[in-house]
Amino acid sequence: MHNIISSNLGYPRIGENREWKKALEAYWSGKLQEDHFENEMKLIRLGRLQKQKEAGIDLIPVGDFTYYDHMLDMSAMFGVIPRRFGYRGGPVSMDVYFAMARGSDGAAACEMTKWFNTNYHYIVPELDNVTPVLTHNRPLHAYREAKEVLGIEGKPVIVGPFTFVKLSKGYEAEAFADTVRRFVPLYEQILQELEREGVTWVQMDEPALVASDSEDDAKLLREVYGRLHQAAPGLKLLLQTYFGSVDWSPELVRLPVQAIGLDFVHGREPNLQALERHGFPHDKILAAGLIDGRNIWRSDLTEKLRLIEQIGRTVPPERLIIQPSCSLLHVPVHLRRETKLDPVLKRALAFADEKLDEIVVLARAVREGTDAVAAELKAGREALAELNGSPSRNREDVRNAVDRISDRPAKREMPFKERQKLQRNVWNLPPLPTTTIGSFPQTAEVRQARQLWRKGEWSKERYDEFIREQIREWIRLQEQIGLDVLVHGEFERTDMVEYFGEKLGGFAFTQNGWVQSYGSRCVKPPVIYGDVYFISPMTVEETVYAQSLTEKPVKGMLTGPVTILNWSFVRDDIPRKQVAYQIALALRKEVEHLEAAGIRMIQVDEPALREGLPLSRKHWNEYLEWAVNAFRLATCTVKETTQIHTHMCYCEFHDIIDAIRELDADVISIETSRSHGELIASFEHHTYDKGIGLGVYDIHSPRVPSADEMLGMIERALRVLPHDLFWINPDCGLKTRGKEETVASLKNMVSAAREARNKLGATK
Ligand code: GLN
Ligand code: ZN
Repeated sequence: MHNIISSNLGYPRIGENREWKKALEAYWSGKLQEDHFENEMKLIRLGRLQKQKEAGIDLIPVGDFTYYDHMLDMSAMFGVIPRRFGYRGGPVSMDVYFAMARGSDGAAACEMTKWFNTNYHYIVPELDNVTPVLTHNRPLHAYREAKEVLGIEGKPVIVGPFTFVKLSKGYEAEAFADTVRRFVPLYEQILQELEREGVTWVQMDEPALVASDSEDDAKLLREVYGRLHQAAPGLKLLLQTYFGSVDWSPELVRLPVQAIGLDFVHGREPNLQALERHGFPHDKILAAGLIDGRNIWRSDLTEKLRLIEQIGRTVPPERLIIQPSCSLLHVPVHLRRETKLDPVLKRALAFADEKLDEIVVLARAVREGTDAVAAELKAGREALAELNGSPSRNREDVRNAVDRISDRPAKREMPFKERQKLQRNVWNLPPLPTTTIGSFPQTAEVRQARQLWRKGEWSKERYDEFIREQIREWIRLQEQIGLDVLVHGEFERTDMVEYFGEKLGGFAFTQNGWVQSYGSRCVKPPVIYGDVYFISPMTVEETVYAQSLTEKPVKGMLTGPVTILNWSFVRDDIPRKQVAYQIALALRKEVEHLEAAGIRMIQVDEPALREGLPLSRKHWNEYLEWAVNAFRLATCTVKETTQIHTHMCYCEFHDIIDAIRELDADVISIETSRSHGELIASFEHHTYDKGIGLGVYDIHSPRVPSADEMLGMIERALRVLPHDLFWINPDCGLKTRGKEETVASLKNMVSAAREARNKLGATK
């Protein structure tokens, strides 16, 4: 029997029924007064703490709650407020805080970007032209509140200085270390005040270490944490890493802190090996992330106990903290509200609250022996065995199909250069052809129609007719605008992954499995729980209908296998690669159905290809290899004259350009306009030898760009890209835009294309 500490790293903010989102949106729209809003938030904040206390967690994180985003909270705490928000020092007002997140009349919002390789987005701190000062000690207030109201001695959570600066912008790369040093005095003050308050543990989140491969980082960390330790020697600092392992872990575990947090889910093997090879200091505590904070599956606790034993060869339980692999921010709150899931599936799931229970059971097993929790261990084992043994996870046809393809890369029969010639003859498009990315405005009318149909007020026939009407209208508009390659508009889709998930086998949908994506925006990712298979055509009807209305080519529109995978909760009993291949083979059938129905341009979108990249570059190739192959599996069986398009909406492109080329798509459309030509410049060094459309206008803004402005973009691109491969299109889908601005912008885009063609003709 041993003593062991149970802990948590962070808890969802959104509330069991998204109360948080509702309160925020009511406040923004003026329906909730500031004091009522703050009260509501306080209730949610304390409710989460109370739940963790009742679950029996020893170390409860405080200060991880936020009104928007925890990085934005850090910026506000450090007075890192860009000048344009008119901030004059002192406490940061609610108006300034939300203006940074969402923009205000005079000032554009701060940039928002993905939190590592998750689908959570944080507000990027802007460090230029500001002098950091401590505006208030946030963790201290959080600690006091939990103690005074609930009697909880919380563990304040702070983003550590290394990660905070790594994720910020507004400094030169060479000045990184000095920039970190500028923040150290502020951290020292925070920690001193926490020490004076009687705080025991402080969690310093440093997930950026997982992407660090430099020995210099180790040196800097030693200096910085040495100073922090000296400033508040009475505090126990927990240096927390997650989302993988740290390359230089022998140095990591020797940093001058009292505890090191390691992820034994996403960095399991390397972390175990490092422990065995290099040991762990005898005067330190190891916080072991055992329960997956990124996924929704129940854990096999018997297996986790074996893992504790394995870790125990280096670090005995007395010096262990057991916890999730990362904050539970990335999983939904509670399973209680799921009343419609297949019971076999539901029993095998664990959301945030169920994960806390798992931590507590593990702690009891170590403290009291496994007999004390025999029933819990058995229930978990059986639930997983039942799902693993179910027919849904053992479809022989799917398994055989994947086995047959896995070892050789999928390939189209003819190389691009030859296909291109044949395609040119078939399509006979003008030079610099114009097209769009797929979706057209989902107006209130479209959303309302879907609601009426979902509620049963409209029949399926009536809804389908409504969708056809939209398609008719937009085919007519596209012809009037003068676009060369048309689309049907995606009016029948709410979400590009959900739409396919609902129609493929192997997917399930929760009723309330929301997770925060950014600000008040939450998403409900599909659950890929079984083998994935094609049931019947998913997009053929709408596409064929659209094609029947016009002489111009209509592009079919599919979401790619890697994007479907990366935006879902994925089963973890088989490798992700296998799941990607299963989806790819199912999509291949859709591609073949479209082709057989006469659709000869097919776009397979992969906007999430890049975000699946592992944090450490060392592992990029392995991922890219199967991700690219999944795309090719889905698209390689078509005739040489059928044109495969793809789309990605980001501009960080050059570091994966080889993989993009390997996709072997006939045409790719990508975002450029927001990167102000950086991407175009990168083509001076990298060649791209297949069809490529660079977004010539930013669809994220309602502004209608002029034809001249777009002509400028086109001409600039044509300086580095061959004109016979160049396409003209907007940055991304137009789903969120209004109808009028869309038509006006596309008209200007078509004029710009015509003008560019004239100029080309003149120089030839
Ligand atoms: N075809 C999709 C659309 O136009 C692509 C969306 C995306 O790239 N995220 O909406
Ligand atoms: Zn896009």
